[in-house]
Amino acid sequence: MLYFSKVEFHPIIIIGAGPAGSTTALALAKKGLSCLLLDQAEFPRDKVCGDALSGKVLLTLKRIDPLLVDGLAAQEHTLDSHGVTFVAPNGKVLKVPFRREDNKEKPPGYISRRYDFDNWLFNNAKNANGVQTQLNVRIEKFRREGKDWIISDKDEKHVYKTSLLIAADGAHSRFAKEVGGIQMEDEHYCAGLRGYYKGVKDLDPNGYIELHFVKDFLPGYFWIFPLPNGYANVGVGMRSDVVSKKKVNLKEDMLRLIREYEPIRSRFEGAELDGPIRGYGLPLGSKKRPLSGDGFMLLGDAGSLIDPFTGEGIGNAMISGLKAAETIEALNGNYSAAALQMYDESVYKRLWPELSLSKKMQELVKYPWLFNLVVNKAVRSKTLRETISCMFEDIDLRGRLKDPKFYLKVLME
Ligand SMILES: Cc1cc2nc3c(=O)[nH]c(=O)nc-3n(C[C@H](O)[C@H](O)[C@H](O)COP(=O)(O)OP(=O)(O)OC[C@H]3O[C@@H](n4cnc5c(N)ncnc54)[C@H](O)[C@@H]3O)c2cc1C
Repeated sequence: MLYFSKVEFHPIIIIGAGPAGSTTALALAKKGLSCLLLDQAEFPRDKVCGDALSGKVLLTLKRIDPLLVDGLAAQEHTLDSHGVTFVAPNGKVLKVPFRREDNKEKPPGYISRRYDFDNWLFNNAKNANGVQTQLNVRIEKFRREGKDWIISDKDEKHVYKTSLLIAADGAHSRFAKEVGGIQMEDEHYCAGLRGYYKGVKDLDPNGYIELHFVKDFLPGYFWIFPLPNGYANVGVGMRSDVVSKKKVNLKEDMLRLIREYEPIRSRFEGAELDGPIRGYGLPLGSKKRPLSGDGFMLLGDAGSLIDPFTGEGIGNAMISGLKAAETIEALNGNYSAAALQMYDESVYKRLWPELSLSKKMQELVKYPWLFNLVVNKAVRSKTLRETISCMFEDIDLRGRLKDPKFYLKVLME
């Protein structure tokens, strides 16, 4: 069937209203620039994730409008998160508080189901001046026409034309693959699974997220992140090349750890899985990719910007949204590939130091003895604990982890 659709023109179109897309729309609106924000889904919608919102999320919201931070804090769906608990392969437990330099009164991070957080963020964007939204439209076709992009859904029922296309359509971005040339590479990609459990015992009262590095599951990790109302987000992640090489069945391993792994087994007695265990990919930022070209920009997961050590992608997606809006304002309508390079440069200037360090830290997990050593020492040494705590905020300190002298010092302490 042929549809003779009207072609709608918008100077800027964003595909995907997740954290990257909604942040861009919000930041553009603050600068008085209008856009169309499109999504294939109706909001609220689910997104497979660990649901942990880092300090970067709060800092980015604050950069756009400090009232957004208060707005998020007031949401019933958020749980304050004050730190992270690492459980080393030898079972030793290391608790590291997050630090929030700008406001010691407020929590440094939150945990919130993406169903709620993304809906809150999307609605803030939707209500901002100059943001038009269109839901339930899945963009599948792209064509260059002069200096514009023509995009549409499969049946060409919805056809749009734009001078600047912002691909914020997540890990499976069609545009990033077909036009941006980003291919999935197993060694720069992680597979993740997540299930919601009710009734897991001994969740941290201060909302510490838990990362368990289990000896026979390395270099993968198992997490338990507390949520409001007695729920927890429970999941596993492992690099895709390792999953293929070792023929790992992630779901079987996740359920096995819950059933058999001693430090957590008893905590799951009587706990109930609420809904299915679902999986999704994490495109890691362990390699620099081109993030723009003639008339387009790739944001968030579409630009493979997830931290390869922590798996954190929400904050990075939001930072790319902020950088995209700043670039657009500075370029004043010149969306040539050469001009848009400014976007790549500013994203990587902000994120590459930590992405490349996290790539190095990924290596640490390959050596359980070294991991055990650092954790054993940190359990005994306040100074080392504080150093690790600072590392979450301060990239220079994190840099110490790739310096062999750091481990020598740890050994000598
Ligand atoms: C198992 C797992 C655990 C994770 N845990 C964490 C964590 O705890 N903390 C953290 O910070 N990060 C975590 N991440 C990473 C995080 O989920 C992503 O980095 C983040 O969602 C990226 O945001 P985004 O806006 O780029 O993409 P998304 O959130 O994926 O949003 C993309 C949007 O685009 C829409 N879309 C897609 N295709 C189309 C199309 N063709 N047409 C129209 N719309 C389209 C989708 O409906 C969606 O709304 C995790 C990821 C996984 C898989």
